[in-house]
Amino acid sequence: MNKIWSLEDVKKLLTETGKKEGFPCEEVPVVISTKMEKTMGSFYFRMRGGKMEPHSFRFSAKLLDGTYSGEIVEQVILHEFVHFYVNMRDQVNHHHDAVFKEACRSLGISDHTYFKEFVALSPKKGYLLLCASCGKTIGRRRRADAVKSIVRTKVSSCCHGKIKIKEAVF
Ligand SMILES: [Zn+2]
Ligand SMILES: [Zn+2]
Repeated sequence: MNKIWSLEDVKKLLTETGKKEGFPCEEVPVVISTKMEKTMGSFYFRMRGGKMEPHSFRFSAKLLDGTYSGEIVEQVILHEFVHFYVNMRDQVNHHHDAVFKEACRSLGISDHTYFKEFVALSPKKGYLLLCASCGKTIGRRRRADAVKSIVRTKVSSCCHGKIKIKEAVF
């Protein structure tokens, strides 16, 4: 079983990292959201009087509930720290550009840009939906009943053909 992270644990890691980097972030609110499902972490900022200001860090409750290894959780938290750090330092939204990636590497974390890549570490079974005419992948679903209903009621948008399914791990 992996560690379950509390809000305090998350704040502690952010605060320590901010101190180490000489760019404190303990004033920035940290929110744990039960509504975030696909996105595991995000950093919000806003413009005020022409200046970019931090608004909040948000992390998915799912990220912290013991599903993921401590290493992955740390990577996600530090990834968001880097957004805060480079954007506030330069007053520019760097997104996932070269400056962002460089800062990730200097912090010792992966410069992967999306959590999706981490999800791949614990893939689960699901179904790919393919167009039976041209073979193009047109969707993916986890649940068998959802897949059955799609196959019964829908046609592919590419060829208006039948939809076939293929089991896959993703
Ligand atoms: Zn990012
Ligand atoms: Zn097609």
